[in-house]
Amino acid sequence: MTDILILGAGYAGLRAAKILAKKKLNANITLINRNDYHYETTALASIAAGTLKTNKVVLPLPANLPAGIHFKQATVTKIDRPNQQVLLADEAPLHYDYLIVALGLVSEDYGVPGAKEYAMPIVSLDTALAVKQHVEKQFQNYQKSQDPDDLKIIVCGAWFSALEYLGALAARLPKLAAHYNIPLDQISVQCIEAKDNILPMFDDQLTNYVKDWLAKHHIVLRTGTPIKEVQANAVITDEQTYTANTIIWTTGVSGSPVISASGLENRRNRVMVTDELCLEDDKSVFLIGDVAAVRMPGKPFPYPATGQIAFQMGVCAANNIAADLNHEPRKDFEFNDLGTVLALGDRDGVAKVFGEHKLHGYLASALKRVIDDRSLIEQSGLKAMFAHGRFDFL
Ligand SMILES: Cc1cc2nc3c(=O)[nH]c(=O)nc-3n(C[C@H](O)[C@H](O)[C@H](O)COP(=O)(O)OP(=O)(O)OC[C@H]3O[C@@H](n4cnc5c(N)ncnc54)[C@H](O)[C@@H]3O)c2cc1C
Repeated sequence: MTDILILGAGYAGLRAAKILAKKKLNANITLINRNDYHYETTALASIAAGTLKTNKVVLPLPANLPAGIHFKQATVTKIDRPNQQVLLADEAPLHYDYLIVALGLVSEDYGVPGAKEYAMPIVSLDTALAVKQHVEKQFQNYQKSQDPDDLKIIVCGAWFSALEYLGALAARLPKLAAHYNIPLDQISVQCIEAKDNILPMFDDQLTNYVKDWLAKHHIVLRTGTPIKEVQANAVITDEQTYTANTIIWTTGVSGSPVISASGLENRRNRVMVTDELCLEDDKSVFLIGDVAAVRMPGKPFPYPATGQIAFQMGVCAANNIAADLNHEPRKDFEFNDLGTVLALGDRDGVAKVFGEHKLHGYLASALKRVIDDRSLIEQSGLKAMFAHGRFDFL
């Protein structure tokens, strides 16, 4: 029997597992993931801000896997291609005939000194929860310390997830302030970004909408301000040192470090794959989601790393493995762009959908929930959606 290993149960890996299960192949299919649950990465900003509960973004594994998929909770340390095996922490290696690598993202610090040590990323369920708890702890401390830095939050980088975090945080702050008996106007939130502008995927109209929204919610956005260093409770730029007891790092992500540990040629742990999503020199190894780079047709650069693309790559890789086993031709990856939505809390946002159609306001934030819920529906089925209370907002 053919051994198919899928590494990572994020959007890409879980989708690939579901598609392979439907194909009823004569194969042993094993899905390996660090945790015994899948989480919605696109909802992590809301978890970090405390506006969404964990049980609404988590899908327990293996309970939500279809028949025919074996689940193994383990941490992958290396892919050993010469011996066609995957090395795991504290466990025996596993053999593969086909491999799907979908190990996702880690925070990218771009070599800024102190970023790893003193700033908190939002890249997994654990890190998002750590941010939420840290902010609450500082607000609680303030009652005794009266240290203004306990009420200061600096978000480093105005990457997509940073703005979603700021949007959700703005919605939560009035409640937090009331809970800890702190005047809202004593809380300071600022976002420091090296580039001169934000959100390159949107045009000026939508970008200005987001900037105005931040200003209206008393969030200071400093663009064109590269961060030189992060120290304990301080962010240092050319012009100034900004102090705060909460420093969050959201400048961007790179792929899993397992990629470089495995000797695969990469750029920021993303591997250039063929249009079929496999390695040029090894058609049995597929890389999908945030560890993969696929050149956009007619462009010199690859697709951005997004949940939507990861999801669709999962389908393509699974179909191509099934095609091999059924002696059919493989197909190239074709991205069907459903649009981009940035939520600003649960009542506002901006979106570009169906090509160049623009939306802002409540409709955009509602669309974000529909897209996240659609992904959960496809991953888990409607029964699990109701069990997770994801229709609360209807
Ligand atoms: C805060 C945040 C907000 C975002 N918001 C959006 C958005 O609104 N829209 C959008 O399209 N994209 C968004 N993105 C990007 C999107 O989430 C990613 O592109 C997508 O999650 C990539 O999917 P993936 O399956 O490749 O990886 P992931 O979703 O990261 O899944 C990887 C899986 O592998 C597991 N894993 C990792 N390492 C190991 C290991 N060594 N051993 C075993 N298991 C391991 C992880 O636990 C995880 O389950 C956001 C990203 C972040 C960080």
